[in-house]
Amino acid sequence: MPRRTWTTVLATLAVLFAIVALHPSDRLAPVRRAIGLGSERVLPAPAVVRQGGTYAFTMTQPDDDGEPVGWDPCMVIRFQVNPEGEPAGGRALVDRAIARISAATGLAFEDEGDTVERPFPGGIKIFGGPDPVVIGWGTPAEYPDLAGAVAGVGGAMADQGRGRVHYVSGGVALDREAFTDVAVAQQPRVMEAIVLHELAHVVGLAHVSEPMELMFADNSGQVELGPGDREGLARLGSLPCD
Ligand SMILES: [Zn+2]
Repeated sequence: MPRRTWTTVLATLAVLFAIVALHPSDRLAPVRRAIGLGSERVLPAPAVVRQGGTYAFTMTQPDDDGEPVGWDPCMVIRFQVNPEGEPAGGRALVDRAIARISAATGLAFEDEGDTVERPFPGGIKIFGGPDPVVIGWGTPAEYPDLAGAVAGVGGAMADQGRGRVHYVSGGVALDREAFTDVAVAQQPRVMEAIVLHELAHVVGLAHVSEPMELMFADNSGQVELGPGDREGLARLGSLPCD
């Protein structure tokens, strides 16, 4: 290709880039994301309401005044489900919990279907890859953290982009001994709340010592998000884009 044509192509790309970079329209948001300029939220930011609840963040920015680490709200959080060991109605529980965590954070989730990948729920791992969050069912033999009364574990992986640290992947492993067909059929709200609790870990909330919050470490029969859960999730969902 003659050099002159390349120059034209580059100039055109430069102009396109400038238009995309400067144009405020929402319709260009997917284009901006495709070229790594995701400076517009996918979903509106949630209202942050202070109601005196208790919440804690799993991780804060290393060089900042306590700003939490969360997901980039200009990106979609992709997730997949590993159906191995899934109880009857299990996928519906996951879908409802995803819808609730999305509503509470204003973060967008995209269902990428089934996978054979095993979840990596092991707390926080720095410098993971931008892979889908994997949700699945397992046993204490595979996930020692599921031993005893623990019904699920969830966590995220963080990476540093152009500036702040953001979560880029995560996982939830649910205990097959707790998530039986009978438990899901007879206590769907309780089981859904366990999935919601683990997803709250994935988006950045840590445990608190207040039993009225869903992020209380033990399952106290709480099925709704508490006031601190809601405020913490709204703050995590209101972070600036990367
Ligand atoms: Zn927990």
